[in-house]
Amino acid sequence: RTVYLNGDFLPETEAKVSIFDRAFLMADGVYEVTSVLGGKLIDFDGHLKRLERSLNELDMKKPAAFDDLLSIHRKLVELNDIDEGLIYLQVTRGAPGDRDFVFPDPETTEPTLVLFTQAKPGLSNNPTAKTGIKVISIEDVRWGRRDIKTVQLLYPSMGKMMAKKAGADDAWMVEDGFVTEGTSNNAYIVKDGKIITRNLSTDILHGITRAAVLKFAREAQMTVEERPFTVEEAKEADEAFFTSASAFVLPVVEIDGAKVGDGTPGSVAGRLREIYLEESLKAAV
Ligand code: PLP
Repeated sequence: RTVYLNGDFLPETEAKVSIFDRAFLMADGVYEVTSVLGGKLIDFDGHLKRLERSLNELDMKKPAAFDDLLSIHRKLVELNDIDEGLIYLQVTRGAPGDRDFVFPDPETTEPTLVLFTQAKPGLSNNPTAKTGIKVISIEDVRWGRRDIKTVQLLYPSMGKMMAKKAGADDAWMVEDGFVTEGTSNNAYIVKDGKIITRNLSTDILHGITRAAVLKFAREAQMTVEERPFTVEEAKEADEAFFTSASAFVLPVVEIDGAKVGDGTPGSVAGRLREIYLEESLKAAV
């Protein structure tokens, strides 16, 4: 696989980063994951805008190649011959000469920019769309700035492991009784035809897929309610589903062992998945 590191396209075994890189020592970095369908980038603008926002929120310098990000993405897709898959991008505060809690001077420490591809043949044809997934609920103990897409992913990773141990596929995190989001996705329920998902704040990541799906839902005259919901409300909903750049829209059929609706994927989730794939593919770059 060919990867990108600070201006160079290299074989993955030759791409090396300093042990003093702030992401390695302090999770001081932000990232984006963009999906590729038919060799094209889905929702690229949204991902780029969110990256810019994450960098601003953390007073991080844009990497020098920021303006070239679209061409770097395209070149990696081409070099690795990706038809369906993902592109991972990470920007870190770089590698000062030593470990220090104080941010390094951005004049002397350049950010580290890394991109790599992950081929995922069949990404758009996920069989899970027809079966749905099972989630468990777990306490949300993450930090308070979940709107910034940092590489600090230990708790979401632990949440996935808790789900696997419990025989489920993912975990929905709960704070003060209300669902925040999934370990790597935004959470939704459907009740009496209404699509309900948590409103944007610092409590959740502002999903790029979420924004697109809600826009398409409104355009299709569906009712959207942006507000927190409880696990109990989710268990009594007609349907549940989640969205993310790597999964698009996928149905949730079980929460903490209780069936959602009749325990099969719902029609609203199915329709939104179809619309999202069709419309986002049309707008792919
Ligand atoms: N919420 C969290 C915690 C995530 O990690 C992600 C994606 O990685 C999402 C939501 C979904 O965001 P997006 O649709 O931009 O992929």
